[in-house]
Amino acid sequence: MITTLIAEARKILIKIGSNTLADQDGRINTLFLEDFAAQTAALIKAGKQIVIVSSGAQVAGLSTLGKWARKQDIHYKQALCAVGQVELMAAWGRAFAPHQVHIAQILLTRDDFGDSLRTLNMRNTLFTLVDEGIIPIINENDTVSVEEIKIGDNDTLAAQSAVLWSADLLILFSDIDGLYHKNPKEDPAAELVPEVWDIAAIRSQISMGGANPFGTGGIATKLDAAARVVSYGIPMILAQGGRHRSLEALAAGTQRGTAFLVPSLHPGGKS
Ligand code: ADP
Repeated sequence: MITTLIAEARKILIKIGSNTLADQDGRINTLFLEDFAAQTAALIKAGKQIVIVSSGAQVAGLSTLGKWARKQDIHYKQALCAVGQVELMAAWGRAFAPHQVHIAQILLTRDDFGDSLRTLNMRNTLFTLVDEGIIPIINENDTVSVEEIKIGDNDTLAAQSAVLWSADLLILFSDIDGLYHKNPKEDPAAELVPEVWDIAAIRSQISMGGANPFGTGGIATKLDAAARVVSYGIPMILAQGGRHRSLEALAAGTQRGTAFLVPSLHPGGKS
C-alpha cells in the first residue's frame, strides 16, 4: 500500500521531526540531511514535487550557542530558535547544493492559516517555488509565535500545509516505524499497525505514550494530522526517517510504516 501511495503521488509533503534531524549529541545530523537530500533530488528528477516541513531550529540553536538549554523564559526560547533557524537552513542548503537544487525558507504562524489573503499568497508562493524546481522548507515562525497564537507542533503545521498546497500525500518522518498499539519504547512487544482506514476507531484501540525530549506532539498530534489530511482526501504515511535511504526503502516496499488511508477510497467501498 505504501509503495502504491508513493508511486501515485506527484505532490509530496514531507515533515521531519526534531529527533530525526538531531543526532545523539543534540546536533543537526548532517549525514541524515545529505542522505535525505539525495533521495529527494532523485524524486524531483523523476517528476515529483516536494515540500518539506522541517523542525530542528531549537536543537540547532542549542548546539550553535552551547548554552540556554535550561532557560524556561519564552524570549530565550524564541531567541534560540531565531539563532537555530539560520543554522538549520544553512545545513539544508549545504545538503541540497551538490544536487543543484535550491531551497526556500517559509516561516508561518497560526494566524497565517486563518487569513484568506495570506493563505492565497502562501499558496501562490508555494506553487511558484515548486514549479521552478525549488524546495520550500517550512517551519513555524517561533520568533513571533507566543503560546496563545502558536500552531505548537509541526505535525499540525505539516497537515495544514499539505491541505493548503493540495498535496497528494503527506509523509511524517519520525524516529519510530509507525503507529503501534502501545508506545514501543515502553513495551517492546507493541505491534505496528500497517494500515488505518478509520482514525476514530484506532484512537480507541491504541494507547499513547509520551513524546521524545525534543518532540513536541508525540503520537497524538500525528493522529490529528492524519485525521485532518484524510478529511481532505490526502493520505498520510508515518514512518522512521532516520534509516539509510528511508524514502527509497518505503517506495520499494522494503521498509515498514503506517499508511493512513482515505476511507472513501477503500477497495471494499467502506465509507
Ligand atoms: P517527532 O519529533 O518525530 O515528531 P515525537 O517524539 O513527537 O516525534 O513523537 C514520536 C514518539 O511518540 C515516538 O518516538 C514514540 O516513543 C511515541 N509514542 C507514544 N505512543 C506511541 C504509539 N502508540 N505508537 C508509536 N509511537 C508512540
